[in-house]
Formats: sequence, C-alpha cells, structure tokens
Amino acid sequence: MARKHNFYAGPAVLPVSVVKKAQENLLEYGNCGIGVAEMSHRSKEFDAIIKNAVLTAKRLYNVGDDYEVLFVQGGASMVMAINALNFVPEGGVAQFVDTGNWSKRAIKEVNRSKGSAEVLWSGAECGYSKLPDLSTLPFKKDAAFVHITSNNTIAGTQFRTFPKTEAPLFVDMSSDFFSHPIDVNQFGMLYGGIQKNLGPAGSALVIVRKDLLERIPEGLSEMLDLSIYAKKGSMYNTPAAFTIYMTSLVLEWLEKEIGGLENMAKMNAEKAALLYGAFDASGGFYQPVVKDPAHRSLMNVTFRLADAELEGVLIQEAAEAGLIGLKGHRSVGGLRASIYNSCPKASVEALVEFLSQFAKNKG
Ligand code: PMP
Repeated sequence: MARKHNFYAGPAVLPVSVVKKAQENLLEYGNCGIGVAEMSHRSKEFDAIIKNAVLTAKRLYNVGDDYEVLFVQGGASMVMAINALNFVPEGGVAQFVDTGNWSKRAIKEVNRSKGSAEVLWSGAECGYSKLPDLSTLPFKKDAAFVHITSNNTIAGTQFRTFPKTEAPLFVDMSSDFFSHPIDVNQFGMLYGGIQKNLGPAGSALVIVRKDLLERIPEGLSEMLDLSIYAKKGSMYNTPAAFTIYMTSLVLEWLEKEIGGLENMAKMNAEKAALLYGAFDASGGFYQPVVKDPAHRSLMNVTFRLADAELEGVLIQEAAEAGLIGLKGHRSVGGLRASIYNSCPKASVEALVEFLSQFAKNKG
C-alpha cells in the first residue's frame, strides 16, 4: 500500500512508526492477550498509558507541578464551553482577541454564560488574514481570563509570541500544540483538540494552572467541572482510552524520534519555508492568503491561485497524484495545506514539486 501525502486539517496525518506500533498493539498489548482498545480504563496497563501521556507532555513542555494535564472529551469546543462555565463569574468579563471562526466559537460560549465577552480586536474586516500587535491591546487585570487562539486553522495565521497578562491567559492551541517550545508559566491554560498534532480525534488536552481550579463555582454538572477531571485523573467517566493511548505514542515519538520541541520547531519552519518559498517563486501564480510573513502559520498554509477557476482543477489533479486534503475550509474556499508535526518533509517536497509542474502546465 502506498500512503498518500495527507494535508487534511484534522483529523490529520500521524507518524508511520506510531501507526505501526498501534497496529501491533491493537491485536495484543504487551502480553495481555487482548488489544489496547479492548482493555478496561481501570486496568494497570491503561493507568500506565495515561500516566505516560501526561508525564511525556509535561517533559516536552517543561510543565511544573503547579499545573494539571487533563484529557477532556468533546474536543476543544467542549473546553470552550467548560471555560465559560468554570471561569466567568456572574457579571465577569473575559477578554478575547478575535482571529477567526474558532475565536468566535469561544466568544459565543462566554456570551451564553453569566458574564460576557469583550472583544479587544477583531480581524473580521480583513477576512482574518492579519494579526494584531498583542502588546498594544488593553488587557485588564481583573478580566476573568484573556483568550487567544494561537494558530488559526482556517485563516492560516499564527502568533509566535504571547503577551504577559495579569489576568490568566487562556490559549486555544488546537492546531499548533507541541509544535514549538513555549514557556508554560506564562499561561493560565493551554488547550487543544488532539486530532491535529497529537493523535486521532476524541479528546482535548488541557494544561491548566492548579490554583485556577479553586475559582470554579459549586453546583456544576460534574462532566462540566474541570476540578472533577483533575481530582479523578481525567477518569470521572470512561475516557477516550484509545485516543489517549495514541497521544502517548505521538508524544513519545516527539520526544524520542524527533528529539524534542526545539528540533520539531526547526523541522516545521523548514517545511513551511519550502511551501511559502514556492509561492514566492511562482511569479504570482500562487498567492499566500496571509501577506505578512510574520503572521503566517507554519501549520496551516493557506493560498489562492491568481486564476480562481483553476483551484478546483488543482485539487482534483493533486488528488490524482496522491496529494490529498488541499481544499480550503468550506467557509473561505481556496486552498490549504496543513503541515502539522507529523507531516513528513517528503510530503511537502512532493507538494512543492507538484505545484511547480502545475504552474508550468497551466501558467
Ligand atoms: N480551535 C481550533 C483552532 C480549531 O482548529 C478547531 C477545530 N478545527 C477547534 C478549536 C475545534 O476543535 P474540536 O473539533 O476539537 O472541538
């Protein structure tokens, strides 16, 4: 079987070595006589798996003991709902930087809570193709939290640095989680759906400062109370066990095969440079959606063709050539190549070669 070059935005490509190991362990995990997706989440084997996932995540990001690392089913969208219920008190205000659809979803949740959302900046007018200078925004000390989406999966923008805020800084890192080193101590919470950089779909990963959990009001449904996830080791109910197992493998791959986040960041920058470089070399045939290189995502590379009619042709011909998942998000159209951690450089090279040939043939 020839694996295709997979540029889907999530669920997305996984490292081949991880998939092969999972394939073996699906049949039999260790010497258990049963597969990894068939065992109790209360078994000692699964206990070791989830602990390994948490500890590997902590080592990779250098997370101190003042933070909890939790798995929350329902994905990043569930965490947005939980954040509104857990951390916005009656009359409280959470401040947002609106950099696209996913920021808007988080804003909507807060506006359904007992408090409200204040939008400090919105990129709606420029079609979310630009980012603000975060150092100029009026972050308030007494905000319930400040919320930023680090990487905008649909628009293709990415913040590489973050402001120091007095209120807890919450960052949705769904599409650039563990793609470069960060100082976790700067954040109240980092969260993201696992299905892009960390494993298959089925859960979100949350890294939250422990003291914030004390702010959670009484009386919430236990499934919507983050302190219950912390107390019960992410196992108040049955967790997404197979997803967590896969996440533990992907995190191990990052640590052992890639050699950590510094190396990962370098590889990601190289891949993105290849692709953005190909647009520059095309004499305008390919046009990056995000014009300012400092705002461009290294994970989701969005682009258009000068001749928009050719976009559908490109997607089709690329698929025939074994390059799949290049269609832009349905809300914006155009093209998007998602080149997450697990996307091999060889896939990006194949795409660059294809784009160059396509431009020659059609240009
Ligand atoms: N935030 C970002 C940045 C995303 O890209 C997505 C999904 N594409 C979400 C949140 C929503 O994630 P989920 O589907 O896990 O709820």
